[in-house]
Amino acid sequence: MARKFSEFYRNPYGKLPQPEAINEREFAFFLFKQHIMVRHRSASNLNVLRRLICDLEPSDVYHSCAYYGNPEADMDKKGWQGADLVFDIDADHIPTTCDKAHDEWTCKTCGFCGTGGQPKTCSGCGGEKFETKTWPCEQCIGSAKDETTKLIDLLEKDFGLSESDFRIFFSGHRGYHIQVETTSIRTLDSMARKEMVDYITGLGLNLARREKGSSDGKAASRIFGLREFGRYGRLKHDMRGFIEAASKDTLADAGIKGGASNAILQFKQQVLERCIEKGMWNSVRGVGDETWFKIAAYLTNLQVSIIDTVVTTDIHRLIRMNGTLHGKSGLLKVEFSPERLSDFDPFREAVAFKEGTVKVIVSSAPQFRLGDSTFGPYTKQEVELPTAAAILLICKGRAEMVKS
Ligand SMILES: [Zn+2]
Ligand SMILES: [Zn+2]
Repeated sequence: MARKFSEFYRNPYGKLPQPEAINEREFAFFLFKQHIMVRHRSASNLNVLRRLICDLEPSDVYHSCAYYGNPEADMDKKGWQGADLVFDIDADHIPTTCDKAHDEWTCKTCGFCGTGGQPKTCSGCGGEKFETKTWPCEQCIGSAKDETTKLIDLLEKDFGLSESDFRIFFSGHRGYHIQVETTSIRTLDSMARKEMVDYITGLGLNLARREKGSSDGKAASRIFGLREFGRYGRLKHDMRGFIEAASKDTLADAGIKGGASNAILQFKQQVLERCIEKGMWNSVRGVGDETWFKIAAYLTNLQVSIIDTVVTTDIHRLIRMNGTLHGKSGLLKVEFSPERLSDFDPFREAVAFKEGTVKVIVSSAPQFRLGDSTFGPYTKQEVELPTAAAILLICKGRAEMVKS
């Protein structure tokens, strides 16, 4: 695999897009062979960088979102001058129903295995450590795209950023990156970025404002009116989606059980129309303030993990370099313009290996598509596949190359 990756970097000379202010970035490389991260490297131009990549043969290439005076120095001597504002939206944290079809887990203690998201404890031995295999599935990546669209909308409307301020990328695996490189935001410190993500996720959102004169708090939710814009709009949108797709399990995830759960499932339509649309939060029997607060808190926490907020607030963060291969898929991180968000097709435009075929033995893989071709599903079989499909399976730990 190291050979395939380095052939890719050797071949299309001139194709690697140059990062903004390349000489002020720290570069880092994750190595195939040693499984270590080589950090604190710098490159004065693209040719130097390409040589570094060819020498090191990395599975993944990163650069700092920060700009430094001395990118090669130790962390405290780098001379931080600013950093791009980065949002990392990953499907791993978005609850979907397709994970049963494409994810697998194996208990590290006893080897017991199953499909779907990993359980908290192994039903075989009670162990808590698992090896998991995910999949870059169209539906999951589609959900990440929806979240990306929502976030861009909010950044434009509430933070006054314009479309030309954003650079949007498919991450090369299961998500999207939004990068803002505008000079005015570069010097925002970590605290300012934290305030931004708190606003976006709705942390600290004051849902219940007590009416004057009601000291007992019973009328707490009466002004809990969610408008259609900003973070309130975002929460309302998420609540609508949550109720529409609600099942006993998803409600239990949000801590809602028993009577409240039954009431939501039985009167879904009324809950949607009266509670959420009209803001009459207590109008469905059995669904009270406490239920709504639980849902709001659950969705807020979900947002915190979906928009990996640690990434956004860390002003020294390393981010995958545009135009490089993702070690977990063999797909490229690629940029596309914001107006193409709805029709961008990662399984066509992020394909790097376009020539030849490779023979592999597949242990298991769900059905998947690359470009116009559909492959699988496969279970324990030898197949000859186009290079990109074979590399995807190998990178995902689902196949091994047949030694010729
Ligand atoms: Zn076990
Ligand atoms: Zn999926």
